Order: sequence, then C-alpha cells, then structure tokens
Amino acid sequence: MAKPGFERAERIQFGVDDCEFDTLAVRAGQWRTDEGEHNDAIFPTSSFVYSSAREAAARFGGDEAGNIYSRFTNPTVQAFERRMAALEGGERAVATSSGMGAILTLVLSLLKQGDHVVCSRSVFGSTVSLFEKYISRTGVETTFVSPTDLDAWKAAVRPETRMFFLETPSNPLAEVTDIRAVAELAHANDAVLAVDNCFCTPALQQPLKLGADVVVHSATKYLDGQGRCVGGVLVGSDKLMEEAFGFVRTGGTALSPFNAWVFHKGLETLRLRMDAHSRSAMEMASWLQQQPGIKKVHYAGLAEHPQHSLAASQQSAFGGVLAFEVEGGKEAAWRFIDGTEMVSITGNLGDAKTTITHPATTTHGRMSEEAKAEAGIVEGLIRLSVGLEAVGDIKADMVRGLAAL
Ligand SMILES: *Cc1c(COP(=O)(O)O)cnc(C)c1O
Repeated sequence: MAKPGFERAERIQFGVDDCEFDTLAVRAGQWRTDEGEHNDAIFPTSSFVYSSAREAAARFGGDEAGNIYSRFTNPTVQAFERRMAALEGGERAVATSSGMGAILTLVLSLLKQGDHVVCSRSVFGSTVSLFEKYISRTGVETTFVSPTDLDAWKAAVRPETRMFFLETPSNPLAEVTDIRAVAELAHANDAVLAVDNCFCTPALQQPLKLGADVVVHSATKYLDGQGRCVGGVLVGSDKLMEEAFGFVRTGGTALSPFNAWVFHKGLETLRLRMDAHSRSAMEMASWLQQQPGIKKVHYAGLAEHPQHSLAASQQSAFGGVLAFEVEGGKEAAWRFIDGTEMVSITGNLGDAKTTITHPATTTHGRMSEEAKAEAGIVEGLIRLSVGLEAVGDIKADMVRGLAAL
C-alpha cells in the first residue's frame, strides 16, 4: 500500500527542482496527505503502524521505505529537512534537537579517536565548551585559531586533522572568515569544512556553494525567526548526511515534529525577514557610529570594517546582529542596557523582537579573562540583534540608553 499522499508529495517536490530560492523557501519539502490540506500537516506521533506483520518486518529490515519511529524519521521533520537542503543547495539535510545537537552529531558521526579539529576561536560559547570539555574525552583534539588569520589556520594543521569548523560572521564582533580559502585548505588536507551559518542563514550566504562540506544551523535563531522553538539542522552531501542520520537515529539527537513544523513554516518568510533585519541593522550601525559615547561599532556592512569586502564577496547582505562599545566599561554598558525600555534584555538573537545583550557577563561570561581579551569581548561591549520593529522606534530606545550613559 502506498503511503498516503506519497506520490503527490514526490510530484510537488519534483515540481520545484529548478526553482529559485524564494520559491523553494515556500514550496520545497511541501507534501499533502489525501485530505488535501493546503497548509503542511504536523505528525505528532512517536511511532507508526503497519498493515501487516510482513510489512512491519519489511520496514524494520529496510526492504521497504516508510516510517518506523520518530527518533528515526518523521514526515514533518523530513519536510523541514527537504526544504533546508533545497535552500542551502545541499543533497540532504538532517534535523536535530538543537544547534548544539547538530554540532555534537556532526563531530561524533564524522570523527574518531585520534582525529584533530581546527576551529575558529570566535564560535558560539557552547561550541567551544563542547569541543574542549566533552569531545576531547573521545580522543578528538581541537586547536582554536583566529578566524581572520589564514596563516594561523595553516599552521594548526596536523597529519590527523580531519575537520575545520568556523562561524562567519562571528558573534558578537562580526569577524569574517574566508570560506573559500579555508575550504581549499581543508580539502588539501583530506579534511571537511563545516560552517555554522546561523547568523546569515541561506538567504544571505550559502557556504556549500563556496566550498564548505557541511552547513550547521541553530534553527532556534533566524530559521524560526520568532523565538518559539529550539532546534538545529545539518546540510551536506548524501554521503556525509547518511553518517549524521545514523548518529541521530541511534544517539537520539532527533528533532520534535512540532518544532520541525514551526521551522518549516518559518522558512517561508526567511528571505523577507533577513532582508528587513539586514536593512535595519545597517541603518542602526551607521547611526550608532555617529552617537557620542559610542567608541566603536562592529558590523561587517560598514565600509570601515576590516573584512567588509570579503563579507560582501560571500554574503548578499550583512545580517541583523551588530555590536558596539560604549565608553566607561561594564558599569556604563549596564546603564545603557537598563536605560532602554522597549528592546528585550536577553541572550537570544534572531527574533522579530530586538534583543540587547552584555556579552562579557552573559553569553561570554564563562570565558577566562585571557580568552575574552584575545577574542575582543571587552566590558563596554553591547550586542544588538536588530528586530523587525520600526527602525525609528529602535533608535528612540537607543537614545534612552545613550542618555543613561
Ligand atoms: C545559538 C547558537 C548555537 C547553538 O544553538 P542551540 O539551538 O541554542 O543549541 C550554535 N551556533 C550559533 C552561532 C548560535 O548562535
């Protein structure tokens, strides 16, 4: 018996193969059951039933395609995976329970004891902890290097290096790494390059097209876009994703169908949101630069940014996150933050709501003083994830913050 709606699903999927990004964001991965629902259905079920004992045996034995258990596959999760693969330009995607779950899955499925990773030191805080504290226990060593110093990347390579990992632009200082150059280095050393594309999303940057082998996402951020769910996803070749899928299925880093459905719907507005976030962040960055009391603004869209032209060569816009330094250190930064009224004081980003963060005492608070100094996380630094409110209102709130300096 054919899966309900399955042939139709294949046809809908097939119909968008040659379409552009905006169409894929709305249509790829779409499928319908025989009910003919227009909006994608959710399948909140832990397991699936079979029409006979013979069919059950065939599914378990892998002789027949179909769902078994939602830790392995689930139609809603697969719809999100298909859409993500289409948007990143990869052969296949594997969804995970969180962004960290995606990175854990990536490393445990592709690396083994004795392997070595070269990683940008300006990656998400939990990514550093994951490599240093937990992955190290599996006998995989990591060397952290400056994201912008290609010589440092080269110098860190060992015969056992099997993976390069980076995040660009970085959080919160918007340091930009040359994806093409690191991909070349990785491939010359028989290693894979994984890029955390959380800040740009495929709407602004497609690392696979620049030579990366795997794209990593925290779907929690812009893919959702409205701060509702935690999740993650990996995208890459069939070969690499088959390994990742094998780990998810056994290691249990699977995504819930409800969260998959939220992300799947979130992707339909991704381009529009990323364009609006980028436009407002650009305007805020230029404006903040001119305000008294602000020492420096970090945003790759500014012509003064040291890697502005590199960013422009690999991104179609500069995203919604910027950081700025106020004079007067931590006390002044806290006064600025407490002086605002509308924006949300939170560690999250990539939300329709503008969020404001003091990295040195929150997201980057667990770093040593030495590591903070090396990474440029100074006490007067404030991160702003520019939301979708009217930009004039965001400015007005920043004026309140400036007045409190
Ligand atoms: C949030 C974030 C992660 C971790 O994702 P979770 O969904 O919170 O597990 C990884 N990388 C970047 C760049 C992030 O911003």
